Amino acid sequence: MSIQKKNNYLTINTTEKNAYRGFEIRVELSRVIKCKECQGNGKRVISCPECYGQGTIYKTRKNILFGERRSLEKCSRCKGVKKINLFCYPCDGRGFYYENRPYVIRIPFGSEIGEEIVKEGLGNYEFETDETGDLIVSLEYDIEAQLVEFKEIAKDSYKRGFLNEAIECLIKASEIKKDASIEKQLQKHLDERDKFVQFNKYLSQGMRAYSEKLWEISLSNFEKAKENLSKTSEAHREFIQQKIDICIEECNIIEKLEQAKREFSKGNLKLALDIVSLILKERNHKDAFSLQEKIENYVNSLREPLNFFIAYSRNDEDICITLIKNLKVLQIAKLINNIWYDGLIEAGKNWDEQIKNALKKADIILLLISTDFIASEYCYETEMKTALKLHDDEKVKVIPIIIRECLWQKTHFSYLQALPKDGKPVTSTDWENKDRPFTQITESLEKTIIDWQREKILEKRLDVTS
Ligand SMILES: [Zn+2]
Ligand SMILES: [Zn+2]
Repeated sequence: MSIQKKNNYLTINTTEKNAYRGFEIRVELSRVIKCKECQGNGKRVISCPECYGQGTIYKTRKNILFGERRSLEKCSRCKGVKKINLFCYPCDGRGFYYENRPYVIRIPFGSEIGEEIVKEGLGNYEFETDETGDLIVSLEYDIEAQLVEFKEIAKDSYKRGFLNEAIECLIKASEIKKDASIEKQLQKHLDERDKFVQFNKYLSQGMRAYSEKLWEISLSNFEKAKENLSKTSEAHREFIQQKIDICIEECNIIEKLEQAKREFSKGNLKLALDIVSLILKERNHKDAFSLQEKIENYVNSLREPLNFFIAYSRNDEDICITLIKNLKVLQIAKLINNIWYDGLIEAGKNWDEQIKNALKKADIILLLISTDFIASEYCYETEMKTALKLHDDEKVKVIPIIIRECLWQKTHFSYLQALPKDGKPVTSTDWENKDRPFTQITESLEKTIIDWQREKILEKRLDVTS
């Protein structure tokens, strides 16, 4: 704080904060004071001491002829005015004097820079008008202190998230004095505000499109908004960022869902299901669930019962017949259409050709494995090898069923998944009862059929369109 005084003007250089808070300051005032001794006259008027203020005085004159004679005469000192003027020593006859003494000047709470505060009767005494003037106290910027103060306020406002206040403050600062560091900070804040304005624009456009379910438009706006947001640094925006992330995620899901629906309508069932399961892996989205259900229902509606072909050795015919009887439940459930085995060969017809035709129509081939099957040239070399080729081409599914104990692990089909579970032979005495292996096989086949049907449907539809 600094003070200058000129005539009746006192200038105090301070800052806005100080002015607003108000303060008291001790000032050494040098001023012209009216002389109290002479009331500014420069002289003192007193009763004439000669005539005691009468203006006249008795005088005794002597006359030779008439003797003594007293007469009243005009006072020679005051010339009959009764009063005389005495020179005023305190003011050296000027009627005023200079005084130097400290005063406490109070600046009230709520004052502003640029304001003038009148202190009555604290000005100089004017001899000509016989009046004492007022002291005009004016508040002006203490430029360096004010710059520091503005910088601090701007910094604090920015920290608390009031970007506009920070900008306003720095603009005021730059109006007081051009300062490179202030200009730089101001520009930084202005850029940030521009980005925030941009961000708001994108965000509101995104929200509008979002509410109208224009997912693509909202997604692109949200992403632009986020890009602008990331260039700003205020902490409270983290909340908005999270909100945008949720919107973006939702948009992405809906977009994928739309894509899945398109693929579904084009008949690309597998692709549609893949997209849906990708969505579900990310989030339990209820629309994705219902679409998945819809596609699965459609897939189920396309299921057709499968044709079975059983290859076996004549020595195992009893087991083959028992198995066919067990599979009857799957025929009733419309999972199996036809079960072919060579017992169905019509007499007199070409035996080999009938078998080949039946193999061609088959969806699932069961190989009833026993030492007899492995030892039979026809079973092993012809039927089994044809079956394996079809299996490897993914045209059929070949399932070995181990009916009697044998070293099937050393054969060509050992890589296939065999039944019953763990390759325990159907005729093994380890089973609780002799029906058990057949029911287990039937259960496993039911599952295999359903999976195989599904696989075929998904593939077939893909083939059609791609
Ligand atoms: Zn005087
Ligand atoms: Zn007199």
